[in-house]
Amino acid sequence: MKRLVLLGGGHAHLFVLERFARQRLAAVEVILVSPSDAQVYSGMLPGWIAGAYRLEACSIPLAGLAGRAGARLVRQACVRLDAAARTVETADGRRIEYDRLSIDAGAATAIHAIPGAATFATPVRPLDGFIGAIERVFADAAAGRECDALVVGGGAAGVEIAFALQARLAVIGRRDARVAVVGTAARPLDGLPRIVQWRARRLMRDRGIEWHGGRRVCAITADGALLDDGSGLGARHVFLATGAAAHPWIAASGLATDREGYARVDATLRSVSHPQVFAAGDCAAYATPRPKSGVFAVRAGPPLAENLLRSLAGEPLRAWRPQRRALYLVSTGTGAALGARGVVGWWGAWVWRWKDRIDRRFVERFRASGDGSTR
Ligand SMILES: Cc1cc2nc3c(=O)[nH]c(=O)nc-3n(C[C@H](O)[C@H](O)[C@H](O)COP(=O)(O)OP(=O)(O)OC[C@H]3O[C@@H](n4cnc5c(N)ncnc54)[C@H](O)[C@@H]3O)c2cc1C
Repeated sequence: MKRLVLLGGGHAHLFVLERFARQRLAAVEVILVSPSDAQVYSGMLPGWIAGAYRLEACSIPLAGLAGRAGARLVRQACVRLDAAARTVETADGRRIEYDRLSIDAGAATAIHAIPGAATFATPVRPLDGFIGAIERVFADAAAGRECDALVVGGGAAGVEIAFALQARLAVIGRRDARVAVVGTAARPLDGLPRIVQWRARRLMRDRGIEWHGGRRVCAITADGALLDDGSGLGARHVFLATGAAAHPWIAASGLATDREGYARVDATLRSVSHPQVFAAGDCAAYATPRPKSGVFAVRAGPPLAENLLRSLAGEPLRAWRPQRRALYLVSTGTGAALGARGVVGWWGAWVWRWKDRIDRRFVERFRASGDGSTR
């Protein structure tokens, strides 16, 4: 009996579990290691903050999916991976041996890069901690306490969070609360088309969201943040949306990684150093480099499933080439969204409806079944 360990319940592994549910594996034990029994779909999280969705509507129950796929869910985080010994160690001290390993554990946030951040700020990842911190903003707002919020990071996640927070605070009746964003680029949504950046900037101004562009946060304190121009920004709640950082246990595993510590894989999604190991999503450094984005994690799912099956059967693997451009849809808090693909950009209520349809369909696809086995 061979053992396949799926590390992390990320986007690509949803497709792997779906495929295994259709095509049960004979003589293969499948174990899913995940710290949580639900995968919150990050694309809908700003909608939850803004009040458009209940949290349950954004969550995919992993136990049900694992059960249908004949996989056992071990509800633990991996803390150590030894690629030479082929073992995964979990936070409760378990050592799980594998014949094949597939990693889709996303990324962390570089919390130690800013002094004080580990104590006084909440990173957007892991999402469970972030959700708890957002609920505390709502509680402070509803109780009439100070609830000023600062988002560090002016990319898509940071800007979406700021729009959503402002919209929700307004609904709670706290238009007085400050929502500010600090970004190192001159304009928000760096990398997206100029027209989209310009629209985002204008919308932020209209909604009273402060934009501090071309600035770097040097330190975070109990009262807010200090910027590189010597100024300070007061805030009760500080969120870090400063981009992805590799999990340290991948760099320490003995797997080949890129300079940032992401697992290097070839075009078949197999580790370039350890042929029993596969990786996809934000934790992987693809042969054709792509931005860390849910789009590429989703697209890697079906080829990952195919190649895991082929690897277990001893068949030749198939190459996958990620698409060149991704569609970006950034909600702006109140029933409208910005969209971009390549150099083209859009904004409007129809873009929100489009995003809403795509996101709901994605979650519903994987929500279909009831309870599965856990331990
Ligand atoms: C607020 C926000 C909004 C976003 N919106 C979009 C968007 O609209 N479109 C888009 O393309 N991208 C978006 N992104 C980026 C997107 O979330 C990521 O690129 C995407 O989630 C990566 O998918 P993944 O499968 O690699 O990892 P993830 O979705 O992060 O999943 C990783 C899984 O691994 C698990 N895990 C973590 N650590 C361990 C461990 N030690 N052991 C075992 N399991 C572990 C986690 O619990 C999780 O289930 C957004 C990000 C944020 C923060």
